[in-house]
Amino acid sequence: MNIEKIVTLAKKRGFIFKSSEIYGGVAGLYDYGPLGFLLKQKLVDYWRKFFLKDDNIFEIETCFIMPEKVFEASGHLKGFVDPITKCKKCKSVYRADNLIEEKLKIFVEGKKSEELTQIIKENKLKCPECGGELEEVKVFNLMFSTNIGPIEGNPGYLRPETAQGIFVNFKNVLNSLRAKLPFGIAQVNKSFRNEISPRQWLIRLREFTQAEIEFFVNPEERFEKWKIYENIKIRVLTREAQRKNKEVEEMTIKEALERGVIPIDYMAYFIAKEQIFYESLGIPKEAIRFRHILEEETPHYSKGNLDMEIKFDFGWKEVVGNAYRTDYDLKNHSIYSKEDLSYVYPDGKKIIPHVVEPSFGIERTIYAIMLYSFVEDKERGWDWFKFVPKISPINLGIFPLLKRDNLPEKAREIYENLKKDFDCIYEESDSIGKRYARADEIGVNFCITVDHQTLEDSTVTIRDRDTTKQTRVKISELKERLRAMLA
Ligand code: AMP
Repeated sequence: MNIEKIVTLAKKRGFIFKSSEIYGGVAGLYDYGPLGFLLKQKLVDYWRKFFLKDDNIFEIETCFIMPEKVFEASGHLKGFVDPITKCKKCKSVYRADNLIEEKLKIFVEGKKSEELTQIIKENKLKCPECGGELEEVKVFNLMFSTNIGPIEGNPGYLRPETAQGIFVNFKNVLNSLRAKLPFGIAQVNKSFRNEISPRQWLIRLREFTQAEIEFFVNPEERFEKWKIYENIKIRVLTREAQRKNKEVEEMTIKEALERGVIPIDYMAYFIAKEQIFYESLGIPKEAIRFRHILEEETPHYSKGNLDMEIKFDFGWKEVVGNAYRTDYDLKNHSIYSKEDLSYVYPDGKKIIPHVVEPSFGIERTIYAIMLYSFVEDKERGWDWFKFVPKISPINLGIFPLLKRDNLPEKAREIYENLKKDFDCIYEESDSIGKRYARADEIGVNFCITVDHQTLEDSTVTIRDRDTTKQTRVKISELKERLRAMLA
């Protein structure tokens, strides 16, 4: 898995650019180029269809900037911090926990600043850059702060998760839709975290896209729908496996729920769907696992977290966070805002709903898609992306074999007709071989070529990206055939 080649191709063909690159770029900030934009749009559209359509889940769009009170209530102002240490000599800054885990191979999740300082001292850990001494560990809040309006003293923050925009709108959505439990509110958009050491391309970013669902439930009521998926198999890294350094265990959704790996049936439903969703994007089964978050890592208000991780070139990394947030968020926002955020049943019974949250990282998903779609192809002489049709930015390339003999005119006519129904490109410059290569590089699923025979018998060839095999098809049957091939 050659990530450098992927990053280079992604830049060359307009998927992902370093942000503000002409000024040197900024760590942790990337822009989407034309093809990356299309890929992201298609991915998000597919996500919407897959996760929101059938389940009483409503999508909203809320502001990126939110006032301080929101984050006092959510706990981010106090708790959304990372431990940092600075080199006394060269002033380089490090995330203390990462540095310790990387250099000393000691697991320090959940440890306090003083404990981390102690570990650094005891193990004589030095600055990896210059060998200088490291300062005491301090905490750093990851939220980007600003002042709202011209008058000082009105602090605001760029949201570190889309979820808070959902919680503060819970009552508005509930009242406007007269929604009935269980129901969800979703949001797909940017979140911001001032990460200390952004790294690994699209993995740890300072600005990134989250697709989040807050599913509001009454924990006393059962959700039978999970049973549709009870036999779906997932690979679980249990708490015991993590403590004893053991392998993942394969189990059904039913078993995971019975064993308490999945804390509640509503979450079981989403976990199963995540497994199906990522496999359908071309991520192999063996590269997907669910890690049961250890007790000491689990936030105090959560009744259980289970992260979906993907195996990247550098190791396993969380791509979807699944948290059973209980009534923590709505309860706290009720207290801080003094608004009653409870749900009232027709008989007058009141509850604060519990929340099950699947939180997807779109850029991490794109990284995974690119990684597992990338084909290093010595035989063809060029590398290419094997994107599945539903998210491939361009599905069809329409080419005249030659740039003469009326072939371009005919090919354009076909292109004009196909583009009404498909995502297509038309190209006539360079040799047909070069055009196939360029199309492969960006993952175009099929290339349609107009040749001399087309003018005689109204047929074209369809070239399959994955096999390079060509089949001849009547123009009159083209749309129908393509629809089936891209399904
Ligand atoms: P979290 O709230 O930290 O569990 O984040 C939810 C999801 O957002 C994660 O599973 C990631 O996919 C994504 N995410 C979190 N932080 C970052 C980041 N710095 N860069 C890119 N994606 C992120």
